[in-house]
Amino acid sequence: MSFDFLAAAEQVAAVAHEHAAAVDHEARFPIATVDAARRAGLLALTSGTDVGGHGLSLRAAGQVIERIARECGSSAMVLTMHYAGNAVLEQHAAPAVRRDVVAGKHLSTLAFSEAGSRSHFWAPTSTARKEGDSAVLEARKSWVTSANGATAYVWSSRPLAGSEASTLWLVPRASAGLAIQGPFDGIGLRGNDSAPVVANNVRVPLANRLGDDGAGFGIMMGTVLPTFAMLIAAGSLGLAEALVHKTAQHAGGTRYAHLATQNALADLPTIRAYIARMRIQVDMAKALWQDTFGALEQGRADAGLRVLETKAAAAETAVQVGDIAMRVCAGMAFRKEVGVERLFRDTRAAMIMAPTSDQLFDFVGKAVCGMPLFG
Ligand SMILES: Cc1cc2nc3c(=O)[nH]c(=O)nc-3n(C[C@H](O)[C@H](O)[C@H](O)COP(=O)(O)OP(=O)(O)OC[C@H]3O[C@@H](n4cnc5c(N)ncnc54)[C@H](O)[C@@H]3O)c2cc1C
Repeated sequence: MSFDFLAAAEQVAAVAHEHAAAVDHEARFPIATVDAARRAGLLALTSGTDVGGHGLSLRAAGQVIERIARECGSSAMVLTMHYAGNAVLEQHAAPAVRRDVVAGKHLSTLAFSEAGSRSHFWAPTSTARKEGDSAVLEARKSWVTSANGATAYVWSSRPLAGSEASTLWLVPRASAGLAIQGPFDGIGLRGNDSAPVVANNVRVPLANRLGDDGAGFGIMMGTVLPTFAMLIAAGSLGLAEALVHKTAQHAGGTRYAHLATQNALADLPTIRAYIARMRIQVDMAKALWQDTFGALEQGRADAGLRVLETKAAAAETAVQVGDIAMRVCAGMAFRKEVGVERLFRDTRAAMIMAPTSDQLFDFVGKAVCGMPLFG
């Protein structure tokens, strides 16, 4: 029988819903959601059937993330980074590591961004040197989601040799010499546990290399970027969907007691027009998102460009929709009772996650103008 991943997503979304307010308020890692995802088989969603995984598509992962983001942005972020890391593991890790993912023993994430090269994640300044059978890593990673909760990081460094941009490694979180500099205290996605991680003389077996020495840039662009971009877009769209729903609910259920007729907030044409704009913006971004899955699945020539467009469109849509929700729900949104302010804060992250919206506008502009993206 095929895996009913949508039913599994519903179950996990219910758990995410139950814990979302506390995860946000206490900046607590959403361990209950991660455990529920593990029990429901969702950590193994995209793992290959050859190691016992469900072998499902990026589109399926997107549907899962979109559903969970409607309840808890932090949970969606943690699962997004797991799927992004696992995309690399699926192609380049030893079967034993892949089986650990399927067994629920492994939560993955990406350790790309660095204090030196900042959002230019494709250009690490951190180093790796060969000593016997080990690689010795030195780094100042600036943001690692699930820094404390992940089992191992998919990690970028300069290559051991040669002038390529990067090499990728699987770095166990418990490695000697790794220091997690948390806790996370941000305005949104407060449970995502995204902390700086410093590596001083961290030794990993050379066998932990993911792909060839110097192949990191190609893996980042070919594997990580489409996965991360489409799933972070899913998270943005889930947050945006919840914002539309909660705003419409508030407008329909809120009344002016001194007016005898047409006394609901939604009776104001301006309010309805704002809600219509929210709906249209979200539907437009969703249509692009779905078309991009089609482009990737069919190997369409425009797939790469569509991926860049989709992350920017979804992130910017969520921000705009969050702004409108705050305006429409007004004083009630400024406090926590309507439930839009957490969503509003959570929407602010995707546009500054690399590649940031402004980088994407530059890349898309260059592509449209027939210019090389890098250089
Ligand atoms: C909640 C959260 C979780 C994260 N999790 C992870 C993670 O798990 N792993 C990881 O590796 N990283 C992670 N990041 C880091 C993220 O991907 C970015 O690297 C980081 O947010 C960039 O911040 P910065 O201050 O270094 O940006 P800066 O590089 O200082 O950018 C500042 C501004 O300059 C703009 N800019 C920079 N370059 C260009 C350009 N070429 N064209 C146009 N504009 C440009 C940017 O858009 C931005 O507006 C996370 C970030 C957040 C917020």
